[in-house]
Amino acid sequence: MKIAILSQDASLYSTKRLKEAGEAEGHDVRVINYLRCYMNITAHKPSVIYNGKPLESFDAIIPRIAASKTFYGTAVVRQFEVMGVFSANESQAILRSRDKLQCLQILAREGIGLPVTVFADATQDVDGLIATVGGAPLVIKLLEGAQGIGVVLAETHQAAKSVIEAFRQLDANILVQEFIKESAGEDLRCFVVGGKVIAAMKRQGADGDFRSNLHRGGKAVKVKLTPEEKSTAIRAAKATGLGVAGVDLLRSNHGPVVLEVNSSPGLEGIEQATEVNVAGKIIDFVTKNAMLGTIRE
Ligand code: ADP
Repeated sequence: MKIAILSQDASLYSTKRLKEAGEAEGHDVRVINYLRCYMNITAHKPSVIYNGKPLESFDAIIPRIAASKTFYGTAVVRQFEVMGVFSANESQAILRSRDKLQCLQILAREGIGLPVTVFADATQDVDGLIATVGGAPLVIKLLEGAQGIGVVLAETHQAAKSVIEAFRQLDANILVQEFIKESAGEDLRCFVVGGKVIAAMKRQGADGDFRSNLHRGGKAVKVKLTPEEKSTAIRAAKATGLGVAGVDLLRSNHGPVVLEVNSSPGLEGIEQATEVNVAGKIIDFVTKNAMLGTIRE
């Protein structure tokens, strides 16, 4: 099969591993920098042009779109969809997961466990807002944050009020969230491919940090999920429509709660912690589905 990995950088671990895993199965795999593509939007022979030539006869794409390039990246993915090429993650699903607020609303609609979360714009009732999430300590998050940056733990009511007011002054969109203290700086990254959890790891924050992001110095180990955690991760991936998803869960007193669903989950941490060939599983998923699409035609 002919597979394109849409990635800005062929030297990234995840991109390299996907290329290797595809080639190990005998596929023709190309890394395409989606920012350098342009599109011919037409009903007759729609195309994506790269290095001066149309990208033709691809069976599948694996999008690895950077958060900062979501708008253009999903437009390229959508163009491949117009051309009838199978995508590991559809453009609409990527967009759904990238908008953190929309993503939480979709999960809530499906009855999936979430930390109590409040979103507000200009309410004067900051005390009421804080009370809604159960009071301090609480977590305040920048809606556009990533890799743990812009996630603040406010220990007291007064600190929470000051931080909320400061962010508001800067005109930043924020979520205010119940602090899941019992998760003790740990979270679970569940890697869901084609509706199955294929690998899972527990991440522990650096000493004294309540955030467990590996980018912030956290450590990861393999973990066995409970059936409830597994089904929560699978339902979250399904609700967003992602074929390949990294679902982050916290272990709370009221069961597993979803923090977020990632459409381009990194492979390095999970492959190292679990020794699962995650890249190979993604390639299997993509080739099986691309094949089904061809048969249906
Ligand atoms: P980002 O998308 O920037 O990684 P997250 O919402 O995933 O932001 O938060 C980063 C980390 O902070 C999480 O992995 C988790 O360890 C911790 N965290 C986030 N929200 C909460 C919460 N409500 N209660 C306890 N810990 C939290």
